[in-house]
Amino acid sequence: MVSIKVLGGDGEIGGNKILVEHKGTSIFLDFGMSFKQNGLFFSEFLNPRKCSGLGDFFEFGLLPDMKGIYREDYLEHMGRDVEERSIDAVFISHAHADHAQYIHFLRWDIPIYCTDSTRIILECLQKTGSNTFSDLIDACETFRFTRTKKGFTRIKRSYHKEYIHKRDFQTMEENKRISVGSFEVEMIPVDHSLPGSCGFIIYTDEGNIVYTGDLRFHGSDGHLSRRFVEKACKAKPKWMLCEGTRIDSNERDSESDVRAKISELISQSDGMVLVEHPIRDIDRTNSIFTAAKENGRNFVVPMKLAYLIENLGTYCPFCLDEVKILVPKKRWGLISKVNVPEGEIDKDYAKWERDYIYRWNSVTCKDLNESPEKYVVSMSMWEIGQLADIKPLNALWIKSSCDPFCDEMEIDEERKQNWIRHFAIRHESTHASGHASGDEIREMIREIGPEILIPIHTEREDLFDGLVQS
Ligand SMILES: [Zn+2]
Ligand SMILES: [Zn+2]
Repeated sequence: MVSIKVLGGDGEIGGNKILVEHKGTSIFLDFGMSFKQNGLFFSEFLNPRKCSGLGDFFEFGLLPDMKGIYREDYLEHMGRDVEERSIDAVFISHAHADHAQYIHFLRWDIPIYCTDSTRIILECLQKTGSNTFSDLIDACETFRFTRTKKGFTRIKRSYHKEYIHKRDFQTMEENKRISVGSFEVEMIPVDHSLPGSCGFIIYTDEGNIVYTGDLRFHGSDGHLSRRFVEKACKAKPKWMLCEGTRIDSNERDSESDVRAKISELISQSDGMVLVEHPIRDIDRTNSIFTAAKENGRNFVVPMKLAYLIENLGTYCPFCLDEVKILVPKKRWGLISKVNVPEGEIDKDYAKWERDYIYRWNSVTCKDLNESPEKYVVSMSMWEIGQLADIKPLNALWIKSSCDPFCDEMEIDEERKQNWIRHFAIRHESTHASGHASGDEIREMIREIGPEILIPIHTEREDLFDGLVQS
């Protein structure tokens, strides 16, 4: 018997954790964070406490209380016995937090299967992110002491390399099925707002399962999603786990329209252009890069994005030498000072940021202030403080990201509007979603024709009723 349990992503957008079991083999499809459940109890300033190990996560339904899947150090800290591993593998469809963030809590000996780009993005997130729970690529033992000459000391990632455990990442390639116990799993790339996104077909001797992950048909890689549908159709699946983020919307989006609109807006502007966009959506980043180039301007990226572009290598359609990198003032702000003692500027930055400080294509807020008409600048609420140094005149802000969908985002949006008014910046917007529209989802289901349809990643499961004849 094949058993499919949706332990996250049921009746909500994201938090996907799907347990599939068959003849003694158990796998998870994604292991993400539920923004909805988290938002009920926590906020930017109130997080589940690390000191409780998994306790707060179990208490508020953020993680399923299951045996044999969680990391030893957390279990021991909670006074639980060490458990036998109960899961054979986890398959990650893409590196968005609602699909991958909670890998942090998993045992480090569980194999994690994903695409190469997904692994690279997870590595960048771990290195450059600010999240407390970001042991994604490797895990450093927590709540443990080690003996020193003077007594005991707490284990620290930077000092005690021997307590860092590399997770068992396995790269999946197209057309190469992976065997895990009684399953064979095929990875098929799809178009979504993050590089490396894929869907899966899971083959069993009692029927096949199709899992869409998150997907759309209107991005630069729309052909990938169409090929996914063809392959899924050929697998004659018994079950289909289908994402339905936009099942209730028939609005037609297009990434190429977004690129054209950004280009047009830049061409009409004679001051600085600031673009707000999802930072890891390389498709959008490429749209902005192309639009800037069409208008003879340089695209300026923050250091986090520079790090991602560099690490993605050929998975990114342009290279780091083709953009400018903004080095902001940090800590003591010594970047803009003269006669600074040697080595002191470096100390203002994290280790991974230091390579960018003196790179030939790095710029500072002073450069942007002096020649605003030369640049299109990647901007977000994380970076907005730099406007106080840039002091833009006659600037344009293009919002190229989704509308706020929770209270915190609404408040951020209001705050952003205050910054924009303060600097008399004009505001425009253009965006295309990372998800297929209702019509496209219905068409995909009709083509694939599963026997059993399981809606996930949607708040409108009711709209899936009657889409397959049972
Ligand atoms: Zn998602
Ligand atoms: Zn996603």
